[in-house]
Amino acid sequence: ALSGEQLNAAIKWDDKGLVPAIVQDAASKEVLMMAYMNQESLKLTVESGETWFWSRSRSELWHKGATSGHIQKVKALKYDCDGDTLLVLVDQTGPACHTGAYSCFSNNVEVKGQALQPSGAAAGKDRFSILSSLEGVIAKRDAERPEGAYTTYLFEKGIDKILKKVGEETAEVIIAAKNRDNDELRYEASDLLFHLMVLLREAKLPLDDLMQELDRRHHSNK
Ligand code: AMP
Ligand code: ZN
Ligand code: ZN
Ligand code: ZN
Repeated sequence: ALSGEQLNAAIKWDDKGLVPAIVQDAASKEVLMMAYMNQESLKLTVESGETWFWSRSRSELWHKGATSGHIQKVKALKYDCDGDTLLVLVDQTGPACHTGAYSCFSNNVEVKGQALQPSGAAAGKDRFSILSSLEGVIAKRDAERPEGAYTTYLFEKGIDKILKKVGEETAEVIIAAKNRDNDELRYEASDLLFHLMVLLREAKLPLDDLMQELDRRHHSNK
C-alpha cells in the first residue's frame, strides 16, 4: 500500500489537477460511471472508504450519494499502467446514475459486426454466459427497482423472503428429482438458481467468488 504522498506522485493529474475515475460494481463487474477526482477527493475516498469526486459543473467536492443516498462503498482502488486513470470497485447502493439508471452507460450505439449481446461487461463467451448476464440484470433490478418486476418484489420484501424462496425451490428440486422427471427438474433447478443468484446479490457476493471457490477445489482434487 502506498502513502498518500506516494499515491499523489504516482497519479498523472491533468492540467486542471484532475484524474478520471471509472467506477465498477465489485460484484457484477458492470461499469457504473465515470467521474473526476482531484487530490482532495482521492484523499477523502481513501480515508472514508466511500467515493468522493470533483464536480466540474458545480466546481465543488462531491460525496457521491450525499443527496440521493446512493453511496458507493469502496472495495478496491487501482490506477492504470501510466497513472492517468483510476478504477474504483464498489458496493453500489441503488442506482449509480443521477437518471435513476443502475449504470450511466445505458445508451447503446449499434456498431457494424457487433454480436447481439446484453449491455455491459457481463457477456461472456461460453455457454454459461447467461449466468453472468443474469447477474447483471439482477444487479440492475436491485438498483432501479422497476415497478411490477418480480425481482423488485423480492428485493423489496428483503432477505427473509428471498431465503424462504430459496428453501421452497430447494424442496421443489428434491421432489422433481425424486419423481425422476427431468422436465420438472430443469424447471425447478432453474428457479432455484435464479433465487440463489438474487440471494447472492442481496449478500453482495460476486458469482466470480463462487467460480474461484469451485476452481480452487477442482485444482486441489486433481
Ligand atoms: P448524489 O451524489 O447521488 O447524491 O447526486 C448528487 C448530484 O450529483 C446529482 O444531482 C447529479 O448532479 C450528480 N450526479 C450523481 N450521480 C452522477 C453520475 N453518475 N454522473 C454524473 N453526475 C452525477
Ligand atoms: Zn492510462
Ligand atoms: Zn449517469
Ligand atoms: Zn419452483
